[in-house]
Amino acid sequence: IRRLEESVVNRIAAGEVIQRPSSAVKELVENSLDAGASTVSVTVKDGGLKLIQVSDDGHGIRFEDLPILCERHTTSKLSAYEDLQTIKSMGFRGEALASMTYVGHVTVTTITEGQLHGYRVSYKDGVMENEPKPCAAVKGTQVMVENLFYNMVARRKTLQNSNDDYPKIVDFISRFAVHHINVNFSCRKHGANRADVHSASTSSRLDAIRNVYGASVVRDLMEIEVSDENAGDAVFKMDGYISNANYVAKKITMILFINDRLVDCTSLKRAIEFVYSATLPQASKPFIYMSINLPPEHIDVNIHPTKKEVSLLNQERIIEIIKNTIEEKLRSSNTTRIFQTQAVNPSALTQANMQKEKGTEVKMSSGMKSQKIPVSQMVRTDPRDPSGRLHTYWHGQSSNHEKKSDLVSVRNVVRSRRNPKDACDLSSRHELLTEVDSNCHPGLLSIVKNCTYVGLADEVFALIQHNTRLYLVNVVNVSKELMYQQALCRFGNFNAIQLSEPAPLRELLLMALKDDVLMGDENDEEKLEIAEVNSEILKENAEMINEYFSIHIDKDGNLTRLPVVLDQYTPDTDRLPEFLLNMGNDVTWDDEKECFRTAAAAIGNFYALHPPILPNPSGSGIQLYKKDIDQELLAEAETAWSQREWIIQHVLFPSMRLFLKPPKSMATDGTFVQVASLEKLYKIFERC
Ligand code: ADP
Ligand code: MG
Repeated sequence: IRRLEESVVNRIAAGEVIQRPSSAVKELVENSLDAGASTVSVTVKDGGLKLIQVSDDGHGIRFEDLPILCERHTTSKLSAYEDLQTIKSMGFRGEALASMTYVGHVTVTTITEGQLHGYRVSYKDGVMENEPKPCAAVKGTQVMVENLFYNMVARRKTLQNSNDDYPKIVDFISRFAVHHINVNFSCRKHGANRADVHSASTSSRLDAIRNVYGASVVRDLMEIEVSDENAGDAVFKMDGYISNANYVAKKITMILFINDRLVDCTSLKRAIEFVYSATLPQASKPFIYMSINLPPEHIDVNIHPTKKEVSLLNQERIIEIIKNTIEEKLRSSNTTRIFQTQAVNPSALTQANMQKEKGTEVKMSSGMKSQKIPVSQMVRTDPRDPSGRLHTYWHGQSSNHEKKSDLVSVRNVVRSRRNPKDACDLSSRHELLTEVDSNCHPGLLSIVKNCTYVGLADEVFALIQHNTRLYLVNVVNVSKELMYQQALCRFGNFNAIQLSEPAPLRELLLMALKDDVLMGDENDEEKLEIAEVNSEILKENAEMINEYFSIHIDKDGNLTRLPVVLDQYTPDTDRLPEFLLNMGNDVTWDDEKECFRTAAAAIGNFYALHPPILPNPSGSGIQLYKKDIDQELLAEAETAWSQREWIIQHVLFPSMRLFLKPPKSMATDGTFVQVASLEKLYKIFERC
């Protein structure tokens, strides 16, 4: 018997932790998530054997930690064995990076907050190959693993012979993207300009699933939820989505997270498969996304070197409950056809939002308690406050809106059941979205994300507060841009607004032409002709605009459906004629990318929050109504204006916070204008 050399021991252990390229990717992505990243990008060459590169925008690694970063059993996540009981991070063994250095070449580039530059350093067999070199770096950490298994000939050979690991990597990232919906993931092959997974952070799980697995999957999903009532011995909560009878696939997709860890649980998977084949034999290969949460002390995370499996207390009981819940759901859904309509109840929505927001507020404020703020920077508002502060003092807002529900009740939001094929995969759409991303102004983005809505300053500008500054924001411009971006994001996946009556294209176009001042001189016959031509153009392209933008034109040339670009929002139908004229005149039909761009722009323009066409009765416009003593018109105008104000506050601003990527031009074109800063005011007051 001989004692093995440490380097041999380490290499053997490494081969167990890093079994294949995809396990390295999983470990690296988990490290990024543990580091609090909100963006994680993965690049892979030769199925990961040549290169794996994972970049994040997390908290980075401190300079002092770099020397021991890749030693075995060095971690920042655990200090005593007991901590394992309550551990929330995904890593804790301190083995992943070390293992990679024993079977590949690892280079780390990282920068921590507040540093002027980052560091780059390479590792081999657990130690640094050179002193960390200062270098330029963007927020977070980038880990590069090259030539994986260069020193394990047999492993490399089997991997080279077997199928390339790339599909597995894509699969991992897809799963993470479905669970961590507030993180942007991307995964691409080295040199490819299109990502194979590209998920943008969203607030809706279904959006995330749609983004990754496609609309056709989401269409056939049902929500499922169960928690243990008999909380005595096995407390657990499960929620997720499972496919219904219409979902047919060749193999089961089971995405399982237990306490936010991506794991396999063979017995649960078997149980579910069994339920499906017994209840829905024709759809026996389901799609399952499931997130289970248990108290950390009920779960043993340390039973597998790659943490691929976990073991649970009361596992049989938990599986039994989940199995029964699924069975019940399948039986009840098998007899009913699922036809989703969306009830429009804005007041309930804001309430729900408010509750949610309150939850986060509590968390945030307890986390920030200890920070001392200089008095000249103290502000009263909080971006998580769902309604602007000033606003609440003006009038009884919510009751005001309830009265106007007649307009919204027209909305019959029906999920389009057409299969959008792979519409979302079209590369020109990707390019347009990338343009939006790369053109985004980071400063404005932070303002939009963290601002508090104060109120409307006039018909076009709203007042917002960000930290100690006040800004005027052009509501028309930002809403136009938001709608444009949303039209591209939801491309091929829109819900639909059914018009209460089909609207004839030709008449609408004619109406628009008559209103058009530039067309003033031309005679009616010409206008009729132009309307005819435009209506033909739209009819010719009807199939495409229906498929991609959910604008449905029936065979008699009537418009019957419009897309839902932003939930809870329908555009001002007074602008419908103008929109159709826009579509007919301004859309480039013969080039795919330009077509999408111009059509999305036309939609953006239509859905933007323009001032209503009727003059504002609470402004100088009231004179007009007095003259005519037209009470009905006055009431209509009042409704339109207060409705718009409500939507700006409760729909536009919250959505902007979530989705808008403000283009650079908005910093200079008067869309955002700073009007005051507390520090400056303070200086003035100090002088007084
Ligand atoms: P573990 O995740 O089990 O702690 P690893 O070997 O994966 O072990 O990582 C070792 C340590 O390196 C982690 O504890 C963490 O402090 C740091 N680290 C690794 N990756 C990152 C990253 N992307 N961002 C910030 N810190 C990281
Ligand atoms: Mg780790």
